[in-house]
Amino acid sequence: MSDDSHEHQSFETRAIHAGNTADPQTGAVVPPIYQVSTYKQDGVGGLRGGYEYSRSGNPTRTALEENLAALEGGRRGLAFASGLAAEDCLLRTLLAPGDHVVIPNDAYGGTFRLFAKVVSRWGVEWSVADTSDADSVRAAITPKTKLIWVETPSNPLLGITDIAVVADIARTAGAKLVVDNTFASPYLQQPLALGADVVVHSLTKYMGGHSDVVGGALVAADEALGEELAYHQNAMGAVAGPFDSWVVLRGIKTLAVRMDRHAENAAKIVEVLQRHPKVTKVLYPGLPEHPGHEIAAKQMRNFGGMVSFQVAGGEEEAVAICGRTKIFTLAESLGGVESLIEHPGRMTHASVAGSALEVPADLIRLSVGIENADDLIADLTQALG
Ligand SMILES: *Cc1c(COP(=O)(O)O)cnc(C)c1O
Repeated sequence: MSDDSHEHQSFETRAIHAGNTADPQTGAVVPPIYQVSTYKQDGVGGLRGGYEYSRSGNPTRTALEENLAALEGGRRGLAFASGLAAEDCLLRTLLAPGDHVVIPNDAYGGTFRLFAKVVSRWGVEWSVADTSDADSVRAAITPKTKLIWVETPSNPLLGITDIAVVADIARTAGAKLVVDNTFASPYLQQPLALGADVVVHSLTKYMGGHSDVVGGALVAADEALGEELAYHQNAMGAVAGPFDSWVVLRGIKTLAVRMDRHAENAAKIVEVLQRHPKVTKVLYPGLPEHPGHEIAAKQMRNFGGMVSFQVAGGEEEAVAICGRTKIFTLAESLGGVESLIEHPGRMTHASVAGSALEVPADLIRLSVGIENADDLIADLTQALG
C-alpha cells in the first residue's frame, strides 16, 4: 500500500524515502534484510505487524512494495522473483479460458513467448496489434477482450504508444490496460496517471540499475485489483526474496540521477550515429523524425537511455560490430550503469523469429550506460570501423 505521507513529495524524494522508514528497533536508516522464513506468534494468530510467513509477506519486500506503489502513483505494489513471474501472476489473475488479449507487435520477446507458448495453452486467445496506431488496436478488439498490453517505449524498436489514447479504448471495450514501464521507469513515465490499470516492471533493468539482480513488479491503480493480485502473488508464490528486494530498493534511490545521465549520453550517441556512413537508420524517440516523438515528448520526462540502429552490411556486419566494442559489453539485458550492446535478432528476440514480432536482422540495440559519453562514442566509432 502506498504511504500517503509521500504523496505530495517530488519523485526524487519519494524514491529515497517511500517505504524506507527507519527501523523502529534500532533506528537503522536503511530497511534491514529480513532473511527469515517465519515469524514468532504471540499466542496463536498473534502476529506482529501482520507477518506470519515470508511468501505471504516479508518486511524488506514490504519496503520495496511500498516504494514501488509510491513511485508509480498506485494503490498497491507487489514484488516478484522476475519480470516474467510478475507478468505470469498478472495474466493468471485477470484471464480465464475463452478470454482474449491484445498484444503489441513489438514486445519484449519473453512477454510474447508467455502469451504464445504458455497462456495460449490455457485457452486464452490473443491478437497482435500495432499499439502506436489507435485504429489497429480498435480493430484487434473482440467482445471477449479482457486485456490490452502496451510496452512503450518498446523493445527493441523503440516504438511509442499514446498511453492515454489506448486507455480510452480499453475503458470503452471494458478491458484492462497493462503497461510494461520497464524501458521508461516511473521517473520518465507515469502510466497509471494516464489511465492504465496496472504497471509491469522488470526490476532487473533500470530500477535495480546495476546488472546485479533479477526481479519484477506489478503496481495496481486501485485497491481492489491490488488485493486480488496480492492474493494470487501468495497463492502462486514467485515472490522477490528479502536480499533481492533490498538490492532493488537500494538501486531505486539513484534512479532519477541515473535516468538523466542515461538519456543525456544516449542523445549524444544518437547524434554521432546519425552522421555515421555505416548507419542506415537510428531508432530513438528523441529524434524529431521518430513517428512517436511528439507523443513521447508529451508523456515522458526525457527520452531514455535505449537506442537501436540499423547498419549497412546486414546481419553479418551487425553481429561483427557487436563483437568489436570494448566498453559496451556484449550482453543481453539493459538498464544498468554499464553500457551494453546486443544483436536482438540472435539474442533477446530469437524467440520471436518467424512471428509478427520478428525484428530486422541488421538491427543493433544499445543500453547506454552512465560512463563518460566521449569514451562511449570513441568505442562505438572504432567498432563501426
Ligand atoms: C527484461 C524484460 C522483461 C522480463 O523481465 P525479467 O526480469 O527478465 O523476467 C519484461 N519486459 C521488458 C520490457 C523487459 O525488458
